[in-house]
Amino acid sequence: MKQIQFKFSYIHWIITAIVISVLITGYLLLLYYPDKHTETEAASYEEVVVPNDEFGIPEGQYRVRSGVVGSRQTLSHILSGFDLSALDIDVIARSLRDIFDPRHLRAGQPYHGYYSQDSISSLEYFIYEISHREFVRIGFSDELQMERLEKEVTVMTRSAAGIIHSSLWNTMSANNINPELAIRMSEVLAWEVDFYRIQKGDRFKVIYEESFVGDRSVGVSSIDAIYFVHQGRDIHGFRFEQDTIHGFFNQEGESLRKVFLKAPLEFFRISSRYSHSRLHPILNQRRPHYGTDYAAPHGTPILAVGDGRVTQTAYTSGNGNYVRIRHNSVYETQYLHMSRFAAGIRPGVYVKQGQVIGYVGSTGLATGPHVCFRFWKNGQQVDHLREEFPSADPLPEEFHDEFFRFRDRMMQALDYISFPDRQPV
Ligand SMILES: [Zn+2]
Repeated sequence: MKQIQFKFSYIHWIITAIVISVLITGYLLLLYYPDKHTETEAASYEEVVVPNDEFGIPEGQYRVRSGVVGSRQTLSHILSGFDLSALDIDVIARSLRDIFDPRHLRAGQPYHGYYSQDSISSLEYFIYEISHREFVRIGFSDELQMERLEKEVTVMTRSAAGIIHSSLWNTMSANNINPELAIRMSEVLAWEVDFYRIQKGDRFKVIYEESFVGDRSVGVSSIDAIYFVHQGRDIHGFRFEQDTIHGFFNQEGESLRKVFLKAPLEFFRISSRYSHSRLHPILNQRRPHYGTDYAAPHGTPILAVGDGRVTQTAYTSGNGNYVRIRHNSVYETQYLHMSRFAAGIRPGVYVKQGQVIGYVGSTGLATGPHVCFRFWKNGQQVDHLREEFPSADPLPEEFHDEFFRFRDRMMQALDYISFPDRQPV
C-alpha cells in the first residue's frame, strides 16, 4: 500500500485513474454509458441501417458507412472514399470553408456517409462530427447543401452513490464511467478530502447534472450537492451561484475552499510574470517562463502558500534549491532558487499555510535574489495570478434564506439516495 501511494504522488494521470476507480468501486454508475470506443481505427468502414438519427436526416432507410479521421487524413482523402469525383470534392472543399475550415479536421473524429437503399445506392448525406455536439452536414440530393449544426443536448439531473472498497482497483476497466464526474468531485472536495488517502469505507452520494445527446453522455456539467464521508468525517457541499457568488458551501454556509496566500513572501516586488515567451535574462533566448518571479533580499523567508505535503526538496542547475508542495489532488506549488531550505523541510513533511519553508537566494540560473514561484492545477502549469479561484469567504447574509432552502431540499434528496448494499467483487 505504501509503495503504491508513493508512485501515485508522482504520476498525475494515475491519480485521476485512482479517483475514477475508487468511484467505480462503489457502483458509481447507476446508469449505463454506451461504449464510445468502438470506432478507433482510421478509415474503417461499417455498414449499418440507421436506427434513429441525431443528425436531422429525413426519415428513411439508408446504408451508413462510418469511420474516423486518420492521423494525416485530409477531407479530400476521406471524401474520395465515398465515390465522389475529384471535381465534386474540389467544389465541396472550397465552398465548405464558409462554415468549416477543412484544415481543422481532427484525427479521431467520426464521419458518416448515408447512401440511399435503392438500386442506385447514391450518397445522400455526408456528416463530419466536429465535436460531441457540433457537426457538418453535406446533402447531395438536389443541389449541394452544406450546414454546420448542433445536436440537441438534454441536461438531466442524476444521482450516484458509492462505498469505496480498496480491493476493487481492477474492476475499473470492467465499467464504463464518465471520468468527468470523478474529476468534478475531486475539484469540489479538493480541500476537504485527501484523495491520496482515500480509505476503505469512505463513501459518497452525489447529485449532478449530466448532458446527453440522444442517450449518449457528453459530459458532467455541474455538481449540485455532494455528501462525502472521509476517514469517518462527514462533509457536505452545496453549489450556490448568485450575482458574483459562485462556489460550494457546507451546511453552515461556509466555503469548501481555502485561499492560497497571494504570494510566497510577505513583502515583495514582482520582477517577472508568467509568460509563454520571455527573453531569458541569462541565456538571452526566448523561452517560456511558467512561473512568477518575486524579488526580495537574500535570506528573506519563503512561505508555503497553503497547507500541504512537501513532495520534493532538491537542487538542479537550473532551479537551484527548490521545494515542491502538493496541497491536494488538484493544486501543487514550487519555489525555486532558494539559498537554503528551512529546518525540517524535507519530502513527506506536512506544512501549514504561511510556514517558512526556505530562504530567498539566487541558486541555479538566477541573476539576483528572487523566488520563482510555480503553480500547477490538475498537473498543468498555470499562471496563478490569472486563476479565478471560487470565493473562499462564507456566504453573505443576504443569500442565507435562499441557500438554506436549497440546502434543505438537497439534504432531503441526498437522504433518498441509498448506498449500494452489496460490495462489488
Ligand atoms: Zn522564474
